[in-house]
Amino acid sequence: MLITVKNGSETMNLDFTSILTECSCSCGRVHSSEVRRIVMKQGALSELPSVIAEIGDYHRLCVICDENTYRVAGKRVAEMISPAQIIVLNPDHLHANEKAVGMVQNELGDGMDLLIAVGSGTVHDITRYVAYHSGLSFISVPTAASVDGYVSNVAAMTWNGAKKTMTACAPIAMVADIDIIADAPMRLTASGVGDMLGKYTALLDWKIGKLLCDEYYCDRIVGTVERAVVNVKNSVEKLQSGDRDSVALLMYGLVLSGIAMQHTGISRPASGSEHHISHFIEMTVPSERCDALHGEKVGVGLMLVSRLYHAFNAYSDAEIAERLSDYTEATDSYVSEQFGGLAEEIYKENAKDCAKGITREQILAVLPEIRREIKALPTPEELSLLLDACGACKTLADIGLSEVEMLPELYAVAPLVRNRLTLMRLLRCFSFSK
Ligand SMILES: [Zn+2]
Ligand SMILES: [Zn+2]
Repeated sequence: MLITVKNGSETMNLDFTSILTECSCSCGRVHSSEVRRIVMKQGALSELPSVIAEIGDYHRLCVICDENTYRVAGKRVAEMISPAQIIVLNPDHLHANEKAVGMVQNELGDGMDLLIAVGSGTVHDITRYVAYHSGLSFISVPTAASVDGYVSNVAAMTWNGAKKTMTACAPIAMVADIDIIADAPMRLTASGVGDMLGKYTALLDWKIGKLLCDEYYCDRIVGTVERAVVNVKNSVEKLQSGDRDSVALLMYGLVLSGIAMQHTGISRPASGSEHHISHFIEMTVPSERCDALHGEKVGVGLMLVSRLYHAFNAYSDAEIAERLSDYTEATDSYVSEQFGGLAEEIYKENAKDCAKGITREQILAVLPEIRREIKALPTPEELSLLLDACGACKTLADIGLSEVEMLPELYAVAPLVRNRLTLMRLLRCFSFSK
C-alpha cells in the first residue's frame, strides 16, 4: 500500500508493499518479514476489520490496551470488532514485566485466536510476549510514533528487576492511524525522533564494522534507512504543530527501521553506539532515578556520540596516528569496578572481543573512509537544533542524570554493553586520547 505525503515542496510516496515482499538481495540474503500487511494513513483505524478478515480466519479476538490508549483508540477498536474481549491495564507504573504479563495471562479468555495491541511500546511488548507464549498471532495498532520496535520479534522486558531482551513475536499486521498518532503527547513523538535520528550513528557504526571486520552489510537496506532518516530530519520542525505528513514520515521511518532489522536478522540497521549508551544507562541506573523513555536516552546517546566522532575527525592524520595506541583489552578488574553486580554478564559478552585482531595500521589505512562517514554525520550543533525543534531530550541532565558523575567514564564503559564494533568501541580499545 502507498501513502502520499508532502515533504517540503516535494510529494512523496511511502511504500510498504515492496518492503513486505520477500526479495533475494545482492547482499546475498533473502530479505523477508513476518509482517504481512501494514496500513498507515489518516483514518486507518476504520480499516482494521477488513485487515483482520484479509489476513486469516480469526473470530475470538482480544484487545490489550491501557486506560490512556483505551480512550484514544481501544474503545473504538473494541466496538468495531465486537464481540471482543478487552483488557485495560492501569497505566501507572506500567512496565513490560512479569507482573503485567501475569495480569494479561490471567484475564485472557479461553480459546482466543488473535490479540490486538493498542498502545505504545510497553503495551506492544506485553502483548507480543503473551502472544508468543500462548502460540497466538497479534496485530499492532500503535498510538504514538515513540519507538522503532513495534514490528520487532523480541520484547524489551524487565524480568525480576533485570532488563532483558526476550524472544517473542512480531505482529502479523499493523494498522497505524496517523490522526491518532499525531495527537499523542509530544513527549512520545519527541522520543521517536531521538530513536530515529539515532540511525545516523547506527549506520555509521555498521560501516565501521564492514570496513574493519568484514561484517555482513547491505547497501540497499542502509540506503533505505538513510533516506528515511533524512526525511525525518527535513520535516522535524512541523511535528510540534501536529502536521500529519511529518508525523507519517516519522512513523514510516520508525516502522521501516524495525522491518530492516527483520530483513537482516540483526539490529545493525537501527542500533549502534548511541543505543549502547542508552543500554548502559538502563543497566546501571535504577528506573527510580531515571524514568526517561527509550528514544530520550537514544537522543542523548546520539548527541554524545556525534560530539565524540566529530572531535576525532577534527584531528589531523598525524595527530590521530599519535593518539591511537595499540589494542588493549578491558581487564577483569576494570569491568567489575564499572559494572559491579553486572560484571560477570559483561565479561561473558566480551569474551571474544570484536576489536581483537584489528591493528592500528588497519585503522589508519581506512581513515579516509572513516573521515568521509563522519563528515556526512550531522554535527552536534545541527542535531541539537533538530532535537530542540520537537522539544526532545539532548543532555544527560535532561534525563535527570549528572554529567559530572557519568560523563568521564561513559565513552570507555558504554561500548562494553554489547560486543559489537563501533567507532566508539574502536577508540576505547585503542585508547584514543582526547
Ligand atoms: Zn540486502
Ligand atoms: Zn531504539
